[in-house]
Amino acid sequence: MSPTPQPSPTPATAPAAVPAPVTVPTVPAVPAVPATGTARTNGEVAFWYAAHGLPARRPALDGDAEADVALVGGGYTALWTAYYLKRADPSLRIVVLEKEFAGFGASGRNGGWLTAALPGQFRRYAATHGPDAAAAMQRAMFATVDEVIDAARTEGIDADVRKDGELHVAVGEVQERRMLAHLPALREEGWGEDDMVRLGPDELADRVRVAGARGALWTPHCARVHPAALVRGLAAAVERLGVTVYEDTEVTAVRPGAAVCRQGTVRARHVIRALEGFTAGLDGHRRTWVPMNSSMIVTAPLEQAVWDEIGWRGAEVIGDEAHAYCYLQRTADDRIAIGGRGVPYRFGSRVDARGETHASTQRQLTDLLGRLFPAAAGAPVDHAWSGVLGVPRDWCATVGLDPATGLGWAGGYVGHGVATTNLAGRTLCDLVLGRDTELTRLPWVGRRVRGWEPEPLRWLGIRGLYAAYRAADRREDGGLGRTSRIARAADLLSGR
Ligand SMILES: Cc1cc2nc3c(=O)[nH]c(=O)nc-3n(C[C@H](O)[C@H](O)[C@H](O)COP(=O)(O)OP(=O)(O)OC[C@H]3O[C@@H](n4cnc5c(N)ncnc54)[C@H](O)[C@@H]3O)c2cc1C
Repeated sequence: MSPTPQPSPTPATAPAAVPAPVTVPTVPAVPAVPATGTARTNGEVAFWYAAHGLPARRPALDGDAEADVALVGGGYTALWTAYYLKRADPSLRIVVLEKEFAGFGASGRNGGWLTAALPGQFRRYAATHGPDAAAAMQRAMFATVDEVIDAARTEGIDADVRKDGELHVAVGEVQERRMLAHLPALREEGWGEDDMVRLGPDELADRVRVAGARGALWTPHCARVHPAALVRGLAAAVERLGVTVYEDTEVTAVRPGAAVCRQGTVRARHVIRALEGFTAGLDGHRRTWVPMNSSMIVTAPLEQAVWDEIGWRGAEVIGDEAHAYCYLQRTADDRIAIGGRGVPYRFGSRVDARGETHASTQRQLTDLLGRLFPAAAGAPVDHAWSGVLGVPRDWCATVGLDPATGLGWAGGYVGHGVATTNLAGRTLCDLVLGRDTELTRLPWVGRRVRGWEPEPLRWLGIRGLYAAYRAADRREDGGLGRTSRIARAADLLSGR
């Protein structure tokens, strides 16, 4: 897909007797003037690679190989697992098997919220393991944010990390009511007075001026990061430790003791599935987690006059309280990146090729940006892209290792994977080494839930769910005055 319809080539005219030199009209890859609301660059994996270009590929696997641990996928999950394992036991032979390049997936495309939000629902973890265990998981998430920051510092990874917290802005009366109604539950789940702070409209305006905002919840447990810089630095860090990262190496099957690739088979005692949103592509896993799409746009750097209007001097990441919510970051180079669901799911669990994003999704995000920040309305949009994240049927992340088969997994982070992948990596490290620790007792360890429905039910259900959330948001924006029953019904039906 291209951002704007390309002009059709003008036929060359030349005197009949003299063959004219064939000139191929050049069509600029980046149109000088994009259609209103669409980006100059569409896809190309993500904006986060625009400054340095896509990375040069590491060598692919070349024939059969042996290892102690084979990690399937080259995102944060695999890399953090390799990182902690190799530090714990430098003698381990560890390989990472990545189909494209490390960071090609969500790890190189996300919104850069290094957030302590639970990757699932507290009540579901509490239902299986009790509220204390669920609270322990929340505490582990708080600690994970600092663990990532410390590890990045230790490894000299410059990923624009800034821990100014996370703002959940209530736009309009209904969102405000919903936000306040949710607060007591957050307190019970372990978010104390200092972990989640209520801000009135004036306090919020001191930090950032969002049109129609009635207040916000702010938590310090979040940092803004540059996603691709983090994954690139992490891949380099594990290589320094002696891990082999194979790229252009697609795993076609995973079985006990083996990861089968196009170029050969890696035999390993432990084989860990770390594919998140790409899991459905692996034989036997079509319905394990659905690849849920998320799309983003980023503006050109905004002028100081625009920032003066908006405020937002810090690096707090910002989201709203809509049912189909959005997420934003102020980038280190003074742009606004904003993301949302876009086309939520593709029939048959298909994934996009290189992040190309539908023009209507780009326009939705551009409009939303203008509504939240009128001063930024009409700002040029430099880039649009999309990616997939993994969602299990119960919307709760899971990590585990079957000691009998040596097969392990982690994922289904439901859009909260930037920090959770680190917790997964440390947990898988303990599981592989056979350690019984606080981490291995957390309630997401070994969690198994039923798979998603077969098609077309899966497609109908998920598309219907998001259509319902959008309809609910529209009704609430139109002055409904309360949370829409459509959204409540959608929550009930989906089990979210
Ligand atoms: C647009 C977007 C915004 C997001 N924003 C946030 C956010 O702000 N905060 C947050 O916490 N979370 C966010 N997430 C989610 C988060 O980015 C992911 O949960 C996390 O990066 C998952 O990491 P991973 O390593 O498990 O998977 P991935 O990073 O997706 O890595 C999987 C890798 O497997 C590779 N692969 C696929 N098939 C094969 C195969 N057959 N063989 C070998 N390799 C294969 C892929 O190329 C990919 O590199 C967002 C996700 C998206 C898409």
